Order: sequence, then C-alpha cells, then structure tokens
Amino acid sequence: MYQKVKGTQDFFNLDVEKFRYFEKVVTNIIKKYGYEEIITPIFEHTDVFVRSSGEESDLVSKEMYTFLDKGNRSITLRPEGTAGVVRSYIENKMYAQQNLKKLYYLGPMFRYERPQAGRYRQFYQFGVEAFGMSSALLDADVILSAARIFEALGIKNIKLHINSIGDLASRTLYAEVLKEYFSKDINHLCGDCQSRIHKNPLRILDCKVDKDNPLLINAPKIGASLSDEAIKYFKEVLEILKAAGLDYEVNENLVRGLDYYTDTVFEFVYQGDDAMDGLTICGGGKYSNLVKSFGGPDIPGVGYAFGVERILSIMAEQNLYPTLKEKTKIVLIALDPVSKIQTLVLADSLRKKGYEAELDYFNYNLRPQFKLADRLHPDFIIIIGEEERSKKQLTIKNKIANTQDTILEEELFTYLKENYHENA
Ligand code: AMP
Repeated sequence: MYQKVKGTQDFFNLDVEKFRYFEKVVTNIIKKYGYEEIITPIFEHTDVFVRSSGEESDLVSKEMYTFLDKGNRSITLRPEGTAGVVRSYIENKMYAQQNLKKLYYLGPMFRYERPQAGRYRQFYQFGVEAFGMSSALLDADVILSAARIFEALGIKNIKLHINSIGDLASRTLYAEVLKEYFSKDINHLCGDCQSRIHKNPLRILDCKVDKDNPLLINAPKIGASLSDEAIKYFKEVLEILKAAGLDYEVNENLVRGLDYYTDTVFEFVYQGDDAMDGLTICGGGKYSNLVKSFGGPDIPGVGYAFGVERILSIMAEQNLYPTLKEKTKIVLIALDPVSKIQTLVLADSLRKKGYEAELDYFNYNLRPQFKLADRLHPDFIIIIGEEERSKKQLTIKNKIANTQDTILEEELFTYLKENYHENA
C-alpha cells in the first residue's frame, strides 16, 4: 500500500471545508485593503530563491527541493512565496502600471525540514507583498491587515513581535559589532554558526540550534547600530500601530532568517498551553533592496506570509469554525429502473438550476436509498415510481416543513422556490 510522502498531508471531508472557510475569510479581508491575487508557478529557476534568500540561509542551503529537469536546468519547488512574486513583478513590469502594487497569494510551499507539530514538507502559505514605496504608513498598514485577519478568524493568544534591522549601513555596522562579540567564544556555537560568523553574523541570532544559548540572548542589540534615519522610521511605525490600537512587543532579538529584509521586521507568535506554543504563525517585513537585486528598478516592498496549517490547527483548538454542514439539498429516489433514469435526468436539470442534487446510482430498493438520504441530510427527498410516472407527478418529502406532498412534475421548480429557505 502506498503512503503519503513524509511531511505531507491530505485534506478531505471537513478539513477541506475548513481550509476553504479560512480562504474565504482571508481573501475577503485582504481585498478590502486593496490587494489583488497573484498566482505564480510552483517551481522557479533555482537562482530565484538563491538570489533572494541568500546562499547561506537555511532555506537555501538545507531546505530546498531542487532537481535538474530533462533539459538540465536547475529547478526548485518554491520554499516561500516572495521570491516568485518579485520575479513576476519585475518580469511583467508591474511597476509601470501603478506606483503601489498590492498582491496576495495562497498556495503550497515546499521545504525539506524535519516534520513535527506545525512543521511540514509541503505546507500552505497565504501572503501579501506591497511594492512601490518606503513608508512607515504602508508598513503599519500591512501589519494591521495581518492583525485584522487574526481578529476576523477569532484567533486569540497571538502576540505581535516587532523590530527594526535598519538600512544596509546599519546592518553592516551591526555585523561588525556581532563579529567581534562572537569571535571570542566562537567554540561555544554550533558548526553552522561558526561559519556564519564570517559570512553573515546576523544570522547567528536566528539559529535554531543555539537559540537558548546565553551568548545569543546577551548579544549586543541592533538598536545601538541603527542610523538616525532608521530609528526615526521605526518609531513612526510603532506610533502608527499604537494609534490604530494594536498591541506589540519590541523584540530586539528578532532579525528574521532571510537576507532581504531591511527596517521593519515582525512576527505574530502563538502563545498557548499546547504543542503549538511559541510557534510563529505569520512572519514578514520590509525589503528595500530585493527588487533591485533581481535586476529590477530600485523599488522597496513589504509583506508577510501566514502558515495556513498552523492557523487551521489553532482554529480547531479554539473551536472557531462555524458549523460546516455536509449538506446535499435534494436526494432523488427511484422505485424501478425506468424511474431511475428519470431521477438522473431530473437531478441533471436541478443541478443546472443551481440545486445540489444526489441519487443512489446502484440500488432500486428503498432501504439503501433512504440510507443515503439519511447520510446527506437533504432538505427535500423526491420519490418517483410507476404511479408518479403515469400521472406525471412527483412525491416530495419536505424535510424543512416536515410534510409529504404530491405535485405535478412541471410544478417542481415553483415548489422548490416557495418552500426553500437559504438558511434552513
Ligand atoms: P517564513 O517564510 O519562514 O517566514 O514562514 C512564514 C510562516 O509560514 C511561518 O510563520 C509558519 O507559520 C509557516 N511555515 C514556515 N515553515 C513551515 C513548515 N515547514 N510547515 C508549516 N508551516 C510553515
């Protein structure tokens, strides 16, 4: 028997309904913030991800599903959404259409990580990217949109952590400070961090292995290395969030794993008394140089990505799904083979009119047909037998009104209209 690949999941039955419910709520909100959907390919040239995340990032060095295609091109299943969106933004010259371009996506991502609670090898992300301007207002607006999505889903116990990693000049200065600080105790760090100190010392702060090491916890903070301009920008973002009534915690250890961030970085973290406690549900920030480094114009962007599975589990934990009923509106029952064909033809016209209709394709006995009806909880059961056919009638069990009616075939749609209530 085949089994799914480790770290992947099947969505079926109510899980699909829950996924679609999440999608509906989220897209409904994000459209109000002016975002349009973008659908990019699931795979890209490997360089797209190497360029954006950086060769030394865990994402690129350990986690990518990369393969050569039959034309010997190096292809990678996307491990995150931003790089492909940036590639598309530039390739399609979207910057020429309008100053500010707001895009959102929802789709599967692939990372070769160790599967555990809330961590998969194929997982879904919902994310946004806003390209066009460096603006504390825009950064704050992006963060607010994420917070409002949590609110609309009813999710509690989510905390916003925010920090600034400054402009390029601030980061270069900070990298030097960290290099000096860590080089004294380099032997107390993991192997990866020992090479990070030369290539990208900031990344040490993000290390998953050393995350509780006091050396990391007590490391100098970036705040002291920020340029005046970066400090002013960050203050402005915080003031706007405050004005909008959003709680946050400045977390000076937050640097985020990817090379492309500048200035504002943030994460929404779940705090609960379950296995998900401390997991980041949404992460993002501003990236001033990414579009340019892809060969595009000098245009900044800001965005975030939600981990959909993590949200779905929290929503299950907090009981946040509305009653999602598996419901077929109409079940058709036939008492003989000729009537069976008639029920199929009738189901077809009901579906064309927009009703959900189902029938038993195999049985003519009443018992299994009613069993199907019991499972589907229809609002109406239509019964056709020899007698109904001879009189061009239909017998209808109306489950809403709890009646049994006999009507003329031609009256069916009028009957349904009169007896059907959307929320029954
Ligand atoms: P990142 O692109 O690493 O900032 O991730 C953004 C969000 O995607 C995280 O906050 C998680 O919620 C989610 N995420 C990242 N990696 C995984 C994974 N392997 N499995 C499930 N969700 C993930």
